[in-house]
Amino acid sequence: MSTQMMPAQENCAECDRLWEIYTQAVMAHVKIVSRRHKAALQDDSAVLDEIEAIEAGLAQQQMKARRAIDDHEAEHEPV
Ligand SMILES: [Zn+2]
Repeated sequence: MSTQMMPAQENCAECDRLWEIYTQAVMAHVKIVSRRHKAALQDDSAVLDEIEAIEAGLAQQQMKARRAIDDHEAEHEPV
């Protein structure tokens, strides 16, 4: 069982691609969370509604990307 942050597979382009997608989803999510905090401080409910919708989508994307990595890594297991 490997529960490392960045499992080092040897030169697997698919791993690189999936981690890239995941990293981008995480960063986009972090960015929107900080935007939400700002909108909350400014009590900007119109922006907050908009941001919450975007955030829900990003959370989904992040989960999907994480699952894609898990699925793909399962295929790496030695038979
Ligand atoms: Zn791989």
